Amino acid sequence: MLKVENLSVYYGVIQAVKDVNFEVNEGEVVSLIGANGAGKTTILHTISGLVRPKEGIITFEGQEIQKTAPQKIVSSGLCQVPEGRHVFPGMTVMENLEMGAFLKKDREENQRNLKKVFDRFPRLEERKNQDAATLSGGEQQMLAMGRALMGTPKLLLLDEPSMGLAPIFIQEIFDIIQDIQKQGTTVLLIEQNANMALSIADRGYVLETGQIVLAGTGQELLASDEVRKAYLGG
Ligand code: ATP
Repeated sequence: MLKVENLSVYYGVIQAVKDVNFEVNEGEVVSLIGANGAGKTTILHTISGLVRPKEGIITFEGQEIQKTAPQKIVSSGLCQVPEGRHVFPGMTVMENLEMGAFLKKDREENQRNLKKVFDRFPRLEERKNQDAATLSGGEQQMLAMGRALMGTPKLLLLDEPSMGLAPIFIQEIFDIIQDIQKQGTTVLLIEQNANMALSIADRGYVLETGQIVLAGTGQELLASDEVRKAYLGG
């Protein structure tokens, strides 16, 4: 579904991503893990068209997208949930969800999606008239994911969904990611929480200073000595 080939990204003279290759197959959850500054967010931003690569090819469902405008990438079914959530403050939960359906003109599809989002996140329905800025961190994460699901994505890119959340919320968010996969959406997840991210992943990649240094199934990576030493506390 998504193929990243020989991707190199620079900020000025600094190379943040170095000749990275990976792929995501339809129906999978794929996790990209790595420490602070490893280049995870840069890779996601490059896939969603917010950052342009110096070299490399990104193919989504057979089409090259490394030069495509971000809004076209979103309309083709690839949607990113940004780090730190970025819900729209001063707008209600409901208005935030409506923004996620902005590119969708089909009212019935929007209604169906809204029902699905409220079924999956009952807390958002309870708080639908509340200013999004007053939600807790975990609720904002749910809203950002719900907003992305309003656009019926085929591939969801999640940027550190567990960041800053209490353990009980982290568990809930990862349960929801698995649920999203079961409902047919493919997921590319980037995380510092290697344990959680690899536990739910079909496959994973380990990124160090802009390069992929290990690849395998989620279970293989969880069991690997390198991953355990570097990311799971030994
Ligand atoms: P974190 O987990 O801390 O968010 P990350 O793995 O997502 O880290 P990136 O945010 O992709 O890492 O950053 C990779 C490298 O690129 C870092 O060295 C960072 O300082 C640098 N970088 C990121 N964004 C910019 C920018 N806009 N301008 C210059 N350098 C940048």
